Amino acid sequence: MAKRDYYELLGVSQDASESEIKTAYRKLAFKYHPDRNQDDPEAEAKFKEAAEAYEVLGNAEKRQTYDRFGHEGVSGNGFSGFSSNEDVFGAFSDIFGEMFGFSAAGGRGGANRPRPGADLRYNLDITFREAAQGAEVDIQLPVEQKCDTCDGSGSSPGTQPDTCPQCGGAGSVQQAQGFFRISVTCPNCRGAGQIITDPCDDCMGRGSVIREKDLKVRIPAGVDNNSRLRLRGEGEAGFNGGPPGDLYVVIHVEPDKVFQRQGQNLIISREITFVEAALGHRLEVPTLEEPVDLDIPKGTQSGEVFRLRGLGLPHLGSTHKGDLLVEVTVKTPTSINSRQEELLKEFAEIEAGKLTNKAKGFFKKAKDKVMGE
Ligand SMILES: [Zn+2]
Ligand SMILES: [Zn+2]
Repeated sequence: MAKRDYYELLGVSQDASESEIKTAYRKLAFKYHPDRNQDDPEAEAKFKEAAEAYEVLGNAEKRQTYDRFGHEGVSGNGFSGFSSNEDVFGAFSDIFGEMFGFSAAGGRGGANRPRPGADLRYNLDITFREAAQGAEVDIQLPVEQKCDTCDGSGSSPGTQPDTCPQCGGAGSVQQAQGFFRISVTCPNCRGAGQIITDPCDDCMGRGSVIREKDLKVRIPAGVDNNSRLRLRGEGEAGFNGGPPGDLYVVIHVEPDKVFQRQGQNLIISREITFVEAALGHRLEVPTLEEPVDLDIPKGTQSGEVFRLRGLGLPHLGSTHKGDLLVEVTVKTPTSINSRQEELLKEFAEIEAGKLTNKAKGFFKKAKDKVMGE
């Protein structure tokens, strides 16, 4: 078959500029685009012919060779035209990208390309102890899963969807907008390119169903409120073979009656009597495991904090633990009997005596002296 002159094919003169050639090709590519010429072998041939011409004239070096040696010159370089439409899309994806938007390179079926599933979020309430010690929790997650009955197609088993008559299966249609023609999602099939004629009974043609999925969530020791655990691949199923999304389990830790939490440290408050504070005391302190004894030294002040190292919460992914902080409050007795009062007065007198550096005197006298200092 004698080949037509490339310039003639594109309808440009021999001295056409690069952009003139590109524009000419775009026009032809659009005119003979397979999406607009379903099952038209003549259009397909012209589509490939134009692509071949552009492949040569759109490249300065090849164009020069063609100008000097004609078809022989370029075909000797291993170039023998395009055998399929897909080759054309592959070679000039930039041009088709400009022309048809995102679904261009493949030419058709933009809506059928693989898409990843969405990430999901699950709010999980756990007890303080579960957060501290780690746990395994069973959850039921409502997830959209591929319908097994129709294998995700949405069509009743044994039936096939029809190709959408409006877009010819492309999923998109051309729309004039001023001087331009733009590609929009086909309103008839909503981009699927196909019309389900006999929908699957189980999923009503959606291709997916909502199922409760049982999942075991391993909660690592040391998680805090609003910690997020990522379960890879446990999110929504992907579409058209795309990967599934992830599941994010957001932890809510119930407050504890005994312990407060500050990072990986635990805080606990304990009251002691003023006598215990003065004389020293052995205090039993609860921990996440067995209670431990804490020796409060003589002369402890109210509000003093004692640190028990390593009795807090584990750091995530580590065996290192925070501390248990014991805050001691000294409690003043609210009711005392006369004997206690007598003793306390005596105690006070001794205190006053120590301060005045004098032998015991009247309590009042001593007190005046203190006040006067
Ligand atoms: Zn189904
Ligand atoms: Zn359509």
